[in-house]
Amino acid sequence: MTPCFQKMAAPGRKVLIVYAHQEPKSLNGSLKNIAVEELSKQSCSVTVSDLYSMEFEPRATRNDIVGCLHNSEQFNYGAESWEAYRKGCLTKDIVEEQKKVHEADLVIFQFPLYWFSVPAIMKGWMDRVLTQGFAHNFPDCFDAGLLNNKLALLSFTTGGNEEMYSKGGISGDIHYVLWPMQHGILHFCGFKVLAPQICFSPEYETEEKRKEMLTTWAQRLKTIWEEKPINCTPEWYFREKRTESNTCTHAALW
Ligand SMILES: Cc1cc2nc3c(=O)[nH]c(=O)nc-3n(C[C@H](O)[C@H](O)[C@H](O)COP(=O)(O)OP(=O)(O)OC[C@H]3O[C@@H](n4cnc5c(N)ncnc54)[C@H](O)[C@@H]3O)c2cc1C
Repeated sequence: MTPCFQKMAAPGRKVLIVYAHQEPKSLNGSLKNIAVEELSKQSCSVTVSDLYSMEFEPRATRNDIVGCLHNSEQFNYGAESWEAYRKGCLTKDIVEEQKKVHEADLVIFQFPLYWFSVPAIMKGWMDRVLTQGFAHNFPDCFDAGLLNNKLALLSFTTGGNEEMYSKGGISGDIHYVLWPMQHGILHFCGFKVLAPQICFSPEYETEEKRKEMLTTWAQRLKTIWEEKPINCTPEWYFREKRTESNTCTHAALW
């Protein structure tokens, strides 16, 4: 089904940026700032969850449930957080993040790739905020996921270069890395996934190349609301030959 996002104008659209970097002067910090600037220029309302500054709690524990447990004999985080969501008994920091997600049309995750994944603090945000009942509720998952009126986009930097993340490269095709994050988390919750924005290896690139990475991101954001989500199926990630150009790197689409 063709989503109606493209038809909607940018002014008044709400964007949540979930940002995980310790250093404001990092490239991730610059990419986040550019997104805030560019989207604000479009009169979007932009909210940033700066996870390290917030000292966001990444651990999914009993402390996330306020008051009595449903089963105090044997703790089950998934069951308890689902029940707590239904009863309005989740802890305040989770409720605040869920409110931001609920209001957002687009959620951008800005992070450096850690161990082929998101940093622990961002994974903790996903573990705790994307609660059953709020983000998914089997069989309401994937296309029927509860957040299926929203877009999501992974914008990240890597240590490895683009060649290392090619099919024949030492790290394997970057699409394999994207599968658990984009399909296993975002698509599972219903998000329509936009092509990722990947800045390969900024630490080992020239200043000029890094500036180019930032400009490319700013340029892309100018028409972000016109983009069509990717077709988030195994085929997109694991097909043998790539003909479509729908993964965004700083340099090009491939
Ligand atoms: C625990 C851990 C696990 C990791 N796992 C992986 C992995 O699995 N795979 C992988 O590929 N990599 C991995 N890495 C590497 C990591 O992904 C990279 O170090 C990170 O992505 C680099 O991004 P950064 O924002 O931290 O770069 P930075 O080092 O902050 O930025 C690079 C350079 O850009 C400069 N810069 C900032 N703003 C601007 C600007 N406006 N204009 C021009 N230059 C600017 C900075 O000053 C800096 O010199 C891992 C790292 C850690 C710590």
